Amino acid sequence: MNDIVRPITPDGFIGYDEFNQLNAVKFENGSRISWIIWNPLENICPICNRGWDLIHTSIKDQHYWHDRKELTHKSCFERYLKLREWSLIYNAVCDCHLAFPDGLKERENEYGAAWNLPWYEFKWKGAETFTIVIGRRKSVFHMEIKVPTPSYPGTPELEYRMAEKCFSEESVTKEFGPTSVLVHAWGEENVRAYLKKFVRILGLEKPAAKVTE
Ligand SMILES: [Zn+2]
Repeated sequence: MNDIVRPITPDGFIGYDEFNQLNAVKFENGSRISWIIWNPLENICPICNRGWDLIHTSIKDQHYWHDRKELTHKSCFERYLKLREWSLIYNAVCDCHLAFPDGLKERENEYGAAWNLPWYEFKWKGAETFTIVIGRRKSVFHMEIKVPTPSYPGTPELEYRMAEKCFSEESVTKEFGPTSVLVHAWGEENVRAYLKKFVRILGLEKPAAKVTE
């Protein structure tokens, strides 16, 4: 933990130490915490196309985007990740060519990833009893068909035996039962492929859109 000898913000929370490294400071539970940060003042965030202000809250709002080798606002990068994931899942659902009139609804991440990206749920028209949940869990996507519990008399049954057959070739985490069909998908391609298996399990497959795999 280094002392700031040359502050650059009026409040003194950002400044250079004796080694000419830029430090940020915050106080938490009575302790002084400092860390070395980039000086973003000459940069433009590639997401919002704006720079940083000479106040500590702005300068601390930074993330180094390794793949692009440039600085972004941390808040911008989190929004970008969230929207990118939404788009990935939305497009995968659209690719099944079935109506989901209520759209994708955001729900709580039941796992808690690094950026805590939300999970999503939707219902396909014609199989409204069943809720489909998709969301990131570390490096895989949690994908699940859920039956409401407790189910009321006359609720269509979840064809989980069929799910066992559909996923017999996949060596991934999977759990099948009368109230839930759950698989972990590695990567976007498998999210798309598994959603098509969900279509088959729910009996929504149209003759024209027959999956031949
Ligand atoms: Zn930005």
